[in-house]
Amino acid sequence: MSITKEDVLKKYFGYDSFRPQQSEIIDTVMHNQDCLVLMPTGGGKSVCFQIPAILRPGLTVVISPLIALMKDQVEALRGNGVNAAFLNSSLSSAEQDQVMWQAKIGELKLLYIAPERLFSGNTFDFLREWNVNLFAIDESHCISSWGHDFRPEYRQLSSLKQRFPNVPVIALTATADRVTRRDILKQLGIEHAETFVASFDRPNLSLSVLPGRKRIPQIQSFIKKHENQAGIIYCLSRKGTETVAASLQKAGFKAEFYHAGLPSEKRSKVQEQFLKDDIQIIVATIAFGMGIDKSNVRWVIHYNLPSNVESFYQEIGRAGRDGSASDTALFYSYMDIITRQDMINNSEQSEEQKELLHAKLNRMKQYAEADICRRRILLSYFNEAVEQDCGNCDVCQNPRTRFDATIIAQKALSAIVRTDQKIAMGMLIDILRGSRNRAILQHGYDRLPTFGVGHDLRGEEWAEYLSQLLNSGAMDIAYDEAHSFKLNPFSRQILKGERKVELVKFIPLAERKAREEELAPKEKPKQEIIRDALFEKLRTLRKQIADSLGVPPYVVFSDATLSEMAQKKPVSEAQMKTVSGIGAEKFRRYGETFINEIVAFARENTQPGTRVVKGLTYIETLDLYKAGYSVKVIGEKRDLNPMTILSHLIKLKEDGHQIDLKALIDDKSYQTIIKAAQEMSIRKADPIKPLFELLNEVYDYGQIKLALTIMEEEM
Ligand code: ADP
Ligand code: ZN
Repeated sequence: MSITKEDVLKKYFGYDSFRPQQSEIIDTVMHNQDCLVLMPTGGGKSVCFQIPAILRPGLTVVISPLIALMKDQVEALRGNGVNAAFLNSSLSSAEQDQVMWQAKIGELKLLYIAPERLFSGNTFDFLREWNVNLFAIDESHCISSWGHDFRPEYRQLSSLKQRFPNVPVIALTATADRVTRRDILKQLGIEHAETFVASFDRPNLSLSVLPGRKRIPQIQSFIKKHENQAGIIYCLSRKGTETVAASLQKAGFKAEFYHAGLPSEKRSKVQEQFLKDDIQIIVATIAFGMGIDKSNVRWVIHYNLPSNVESFYQEIGRAGRDGSASDTALFYSYMDIITRQDMINNSEQSEEQKELLHAKLNRMKQYAEADICRRRILLSYFNEAVEQDCGNCDVCQNPRTRFDATIIAQKALSAIVRTDQKIAMGMLIDILRGSRNRAILQHGYDRLPTFGVGHDLRGEEWAEYLSQLLNSGAMDIAYDEAHSFKLNPFSRQILKGERKVELVKFIPLAERKAREEELAPKEKPKQEIIRDALFEKLRTLRKQIADSLGVPPYVVFSDATLSEMAQKKPVSEAQMKTVSGIGAEKFRRYGETFINEIVAFARENTQPGTRVVKGLTYIETLDLYKAGYSVKVIGEKRDLNPMTILSHLIKLKEDGHQIDLKALIDDKSYQTIIKAAQEMSIRKADPIKPLFELLNEVYDYGQIKLALTIMEEEM
């Protein structure tokens, strides 16, 4: 009987079903057809080539640009019982020889290799001897100068198809745009490849935009809700990463900064500590994240606005790769836009290029200012139509209401006129609210007719509305004149009452949060990580195991697997294997250890009469059995009848525990029972009452069942 792709998914990866497109992609590869796979980060690209690699004879060569990523992927594959290795400059030449030897004798299913290594020396001659059945080109957008991460060494892959015309190629990327897509096919010489575009939606990521004021306190309250959960804070500048990290450290959080200006040893160290869950928070520039496969990043915060939607999506995509619920937040204020515009204007780019960058920035601004479902905006950027609001973004949870704000706008604009367009946000708010501070008095602004006309709104409300006015073009800002506000033709129309202004109603942050929390339970996707006491115990165990193996904890089990385990509390092999993410090899390696932990937990937490775990009763029998007690004594100790104990032991044996069933019954009884069974053609699965009667009720049901089980085993 041949093994199917579904079997492989279950046995090696521990998953019950494919995600959308995976199955079709695998079929295409199995038919020797080239294909291009577009899936978001965390979408599940790897199994698309790993499963064909396992199913087919020969070797699958995976081309990947990032050495760190390679190591993790190989580690994860080995953890699942798949023979894989990598070849790159981090290995000694003896280690490389060892890998080449394994490839030669056909021991490897997958070989990860960096492109520069593939084209150096005589690797190609070796490839011909290695019975290559598939080339998988990960991060394939690196071959295109249209993509956002062009790598010249990828260009050499163009010759791959000519050299191996009969070996199928699967190219994979998380970059969606059409130009890059077409270029990948052309560069690889696989124009006829079938293209699969998976949905870019990542429903497990919550989306929210926070007002860009008092960012640090907001971050602290965000992190407090994510105790012990790993997350990344992206900052625009190196300096920014350092100051944010410092203020978090001061507040007692385990945070480190990371940027390209650090010595490389320091960078690797920080990265390593983060992967291994030794540091909870990384404050980083965008230099951080490439080549990080950590699947249990639970949150991402953007301290500053990213330059475009692609980058933003890629960065938040580093959260929740394991599919479990994760949170993202973006800070936004008008200053962020100005900083970004500035950066573009002052860059060395051509005018044409600058225009493109401004257009891209503008799409990012639209996202940040959205008053409709944010996920709709994101996905429409990737040309995906969305039928429904997502329910998992801040706009869905706090629907915006618009109101006629013409008078508010007029108050602000006239204060700007009366101060000769020389004042910036802070001073304007003080004038409107009528604050008598030194600067105001010094300038005599307290004598303006507009002084205090806006005292009915709070400072933060004014800040919000002024940002909105700016963003909607109702006024301008001169960032080269100390950010003073300026009038434009629209402003004048508003002042004259020729134009109306609508703004989005301000909701105080505390109120928003409260509402989000109220909504949270029913709106959030079900893959929620539940962090109860058992989860924390299992998490500690996972960390211990990972440390002893020198691998990151998520390589042992994902957060999702751990959470499901803590909920299901499996205490047998069969139960354990129903947990998503636990295949045969994972069970073999860690199953026993985790079962013991669950049992220990259940014991500590079981009150008489309650049942914390299903199957704990079997475990108790097993422990006594292992301690050498007879069935009768176990029955006495547990206050159960021997027949029940026998049925436990049979079940335990079926679940794979070491039980010597034959020792539980004397040979004469055994022979008598099976002789009768054979006469009546009764087997283990049949009703045994007739046998019980035929044997004159001398043997009880437990003994009969036992004899039949042994008989079947021996057959
Ligand atoms: P990508 O390479 O697209 O970023 P991965 O291949 O690393 O994503 O997959 C992301 C996560 O999803 C991994 O933890 C992987 O084990 C998991 N995964 C992949 N396919 C499935 C599936 N069919 N069911 C459940 N989890 C899956
Ligand atoms: Zn939404």
